[in-house]
Amino acid sequence: MEKDSVTPSTVPVLVPMPADRPFSYGVPEGVHAVPGSIVAVPLGPRIVAGVVWDGPADEVDPSKLRNIETVFECPALGAESRRFVDWIADYTISAPGMVARMILRVPGAFDPEPPTPALRWTGREPERMTGARHRVMEIARDGMAWSRGGLARSAGVSHSVIDGLTSQGVLEPALIPPHPVVAAPDPDYSKPDLSQNQRPVADVLTGKAKAGYSVAVIDGVTGAGKTEVYFEAVAEVLRAAKQALILLPEIALTHAFLTRFEDRFGAKPAEWHSGLAPRTRERVWRQVAEGQVRVVAGARSALFLPFADLGLIVVDEEHDSAYKQEDGICYNARDMAVVRGHIGKFPVILASATPSVETRVNAERGRYQRLVLADRYSGAELPELRAIDMRRHPPERGKFLSPVLAGHVADTLERKEQTLLFLNRRGYAPLTLCRVCGHRFQCPDCSAWLVEHRFRGEILCHHCGHREAKPEACPECGTLDHLVACGPGIERIAEEVDLLFPDARTIVLSSDLPGGVKRMRLELEAIADGAADIVIGTQLVAKGHNFPGMTLVGVIDADIGLANGDPRAAERTFQLLSQVTGRAGRFGKQSQGLIQTYQPDHPVLQAIISGDSEAFYSREINERERGHLPPFSRMAALVVSAVTRPESENHARALRRAAPSAEGIEILGPAEAPLALIRGRFRFRLLVQANLQADIQDYIRAMIANAPKPKSSVRVTIDVDPQSFL
Ligand code: ADP
Ligand code: ZN
Repeated sequence: MEKDSVTPSTVPVLVPMPADRPFSYGVPEGVHAVPGSIVAVPLGPRIVAGVVWDGPADEVDPSKLRNIETVFECPALGAESRRFVDWIADYTISAPGMVARMILRVPGAFDPEPPTPALRWTGREPERMTGARHRVMEIARDGMAWSRGGLARSAGVSHSVIDGLTSQGVLEPALIPPHPVVAAPDPDYSKPDLSQNQRPVADVLTGKAKAGYSVAVIDGVTGAGKTEVYFEAVAEVLRAAKQALILLPEIALTHAFLTRFEDRFGAKPAEWHSGLAPRTRERVWRQVAEGQVRVVAGARSALFLPFADLGLIVVDEEHDSAYKQEDGICYNARDMAVVRGHIGKFPVILASATPSVETRVNAERGRYQRLVLADRYSGAELPELRAIDMRRHPPERGKFLSPVLAGHVADTLERKEQTLLFLNRRGYAPLTLCRVCGHRFQCPDCSAWLVEHRFRGEILCHHCGHREAKPEACPECGTLDHLVACGPGIERIAEEVDLLFPDARTIVLSSDLPGGVKRMRLELEAIADGAADIVIGTQLVAKGHNFPGMTLVGVIDADIGLANGDPRAAERTFQLLSQVTGRAGRFGKQSQGLIQTYQPDHPVLQAIISGDSEAFYSREINERERGHLPPFSRMAALVVSAVTRPESENHARALRRAAPSAEGIEILGPAEAPLALIRGRFRFRLLVQANLQADIQDYIRAMIANAPKPKSSVRVTIDVDPQSFL
């Protein structure tokens, strides 16, 4: 092929590669590529999607310069989105191209959606009027274009009636623009009557919605109306013709949220989560880029949608650990939302009944404004909370419900009210062992026990998904029928409940429920409608749902979360148990939360039971400060993994040796990870701990640059601000 006589100008393009900088590409004549343009470029033997960047690119030998293949007919990524990518790449120590890839994951959306074929009235009347034709004409005469199927359905006629009218020239083919994924929300569709407590908070938020960057924290008990209040800020942003993003930790399960939004704004928000059909994903992405979709309610990945003009982010349940992504690029969506607001100069609202310690400290430092909603909107009392001391009220052998809790369940049934029994453990039993030889069933690829799932007749690994049929004989000693299940999972609690209350209607809910999101939503609706007497569930049922008839929440084992050595164990337990017990009594009836524990005097349990959350926070914040833990210091974890143990350990040691010495920065490890083996990879951890003034990213970059380049079989994951220490 002949080379262009004019040397094409070059542009930097971010490609999905672990490189520090964009690559240079040539721009053929007549091709218009500006910063943010989404392009197809050759990369090795492949054609990949990339985005034209600004700033310096890698130098390339002019003879090796390759040209941009295509510039997609797609809105260019705005400067704010581009600076956001740069910022995240820098903060998480990742390649900017890999961060940009999180935006570009929907290649089907880069080309405009084709118009939809439709039919329209030509103005001519049918030759012979029949009842069916009459019904079609009643609809078609207003001149709107209809899809063939839509018109047939609306008129209640068969397709052949429509086809007949088309062949007579009464209807003619037309093209209509692609249908919006959601209708436009109306900020004034149905304004709520805010309570005396809510009004001032809403006023502050709407004020902020009109100004630039700020972070507000709505700290309000479960049922205080936090959602109702931040909807006012969303309305304000809609009035200013900007877009809003509402992040939710379990969007797939928050069907009720969508309905509530629709009640307030007359239309649903666009959803964004992993459960969407591919076609819907593409259309949402495209319409967000074009600015047609005004409000997105989504999971953490929604932060990486190509918003045309974003004006507000709300992070609901901001403390939730679901906001932390722990593979690939490790980021916390709550913190990145704040960064996005700062870059875009717009407000960010964090909402929670149990804010994270980080957020509370940020509020104390004056960086975030804390707005308190102290009472439930309905005026309903919060549930009365009590610990059940399991040392004094032990369950029967092999059982897990204390007689006290069982008694209250019976009373609640009697009153025809609902009970939630909460245990954060899927399956039947977390460990199976042989009574004869003591053999324990372990995952072959992970350092984890296999969890029995009795409904499925399998034992499986919760880390890698490895599964086997539940054996009858011990593989070690061959003895038949002597395998015992140790400890409870929710299936085992369900079995106990069935024995105790054979006539009660029970629902068992966890992520194991077959049928996915759809089924889960139906079950949750059924519970809200009173179709179950006793719900037995994991944290899936703890979050955000409104169950009007629920007046008793029983926590089967409050000690689970406190046992591990995680620095956030206390905080997590406090949040989870507050959330779970907050499911009870949201609609005025007297309600109770009963917490089974072997350590009723533990300060975390005391704080929950006394309802004195301030005591919890001040104690926890003090301990963090004394222990020099985040947010009073910064941490980053480096996890090295490899298919052999020595390879992993050696590289971890090499990293440690390569660590520079720096004022205010300490490095710990390497140590074998508590989860030493996952999916057949051996893991070692290093932990970097730094003063707030120190540059932890620079330190880690230097360490990686100084260390020998590992073999390709060795992986290093960098997790800045880690949540998990496993
Ligand atoms: P939170 O998010 O703080 O847990 P919600 O916003 O879910 O609380 O509100 C709890 C319940 O109270 C919901 O059913 C909600 O519709 C209702 N509610 C709250 N504020 C109002 C209001 N101003 N007008 C009408 N209903 C309200
Ligand atoms: Zn496994």
